[in-house]
Amino acid sequence: MPRVFSGIQPTGEPHIGNYFGAMRNYVRLGEEFGKNSIYCVVDLHAITNPASFEPRLLAQRTFEMAVANFAAGLDPSRVTFFVQSHVPEHQELAWIFTTLTPVGELERMTQYKDKSEQLESVPAGLLMYPALMAADILLYKADTVPVGEDQTQHIELTREIARKFNHAFGETFPEPKAVYNKQALRIPGVDGNGKMGKSKGPGSTIGILEPLDAIWQKLRVAPTDPARVRRTDPGNPDVCLIFDYHKLFSDLDTLQTVDAGCRTAGIGCIDCKKTLLAGMTEHLSPIHERAEALKADPDFVRDALAQGAKEARATAQPIMEEVREKVGFLK
Ligand code: SF4
Repeated sequence: MPRVFSGIQPTGEPHIGNYFGAMRNYVRLGEEFGKNSIYCVVDLHAITNPASFEPRLLAQRTFEMAVANFAAGLDPSRVTFFVQSHVPEHQELAWIFTTLTPVGELERMTQYKDKSEQLESVPAGLLMYPALMAADILLYKADTVPVGEDQTQHIELTREIARKFNHAFGETFPEPKAVYNKQALRIPGVDGNGKMGKSKGPGSTIGILEPLDAIWQKLRVAPTDPARVRRTDPGNPDVCLIFDYHKLFSDLDTLQTVDAGCRTAGIGCIDCKKTLLAGMTEHLSPIHERAEALKADPDFVRDALAQGAKEARATAQPIMEEVREKVGFLK
């Protein structure tokens, strides 16, 4: 049975790009692979970058990321969902992998270069990040890894580490494959400045748990087709981010009405945005309600995470035993 692994950064509230690009995919894979879909909130990764790590907020963000995923439809009783630091085997395997990975390989990772350039002093943990990521995946002998395309290099390195370990200590790990969700690549930020979440602007994202009136304030001022200077100017929905959002939240009839209305100046941009907000309200309101219920019952969330860590360890421990024996540690 194939095994799926994916790590989720506890950095801020997930946005609709995360939701359509990753979270809905987790739910779908969970229905297919059940407990063999293994998802963890990667708090050990979060502390490697001092530019974004805020100790006061880490526990809260980790909790909120679990709430957001459960509210978005991930059922913790059907998949394995836990917090990375609750399963210490991740760190143990990562250490072994650092001994197999040349520093030069780690230094040429694009993400490391981008992040380290912005720091005065670079922590060793930031350099070791890909070894920890390889450990996250291989600790469960996962063969399928849903990720964004920016993780391609890290998955390649994971495959390389698996090959090196197998060569040095005998066949142990599969070489995992990345699976990409193309939809994630096309969701623009609401400020019109590239992909959602990539722009530095505070107003570039729409959070899946963001209040609808706050979402409206962002939509209201969002750029549209610049050719529509006056209400009577026809527009082109293909160059408008609002239409990209309609494709996510509106039904086919609405899409066709908006498309025709835009091209003939039959509708104005504010009306178009109000129609979008109605679609978003229908889609996001049940998620908001589930999130409120989960926040009101934090013990449910904590118990689900504790149970998830127990299940993850039940899979990880025999694999770690095999690794320890192959590496040659005294029992
Ligand atoms: Fe964009 Fe809608 Fe305005 Fe057309 S009518 S430019 S799709 S906001």
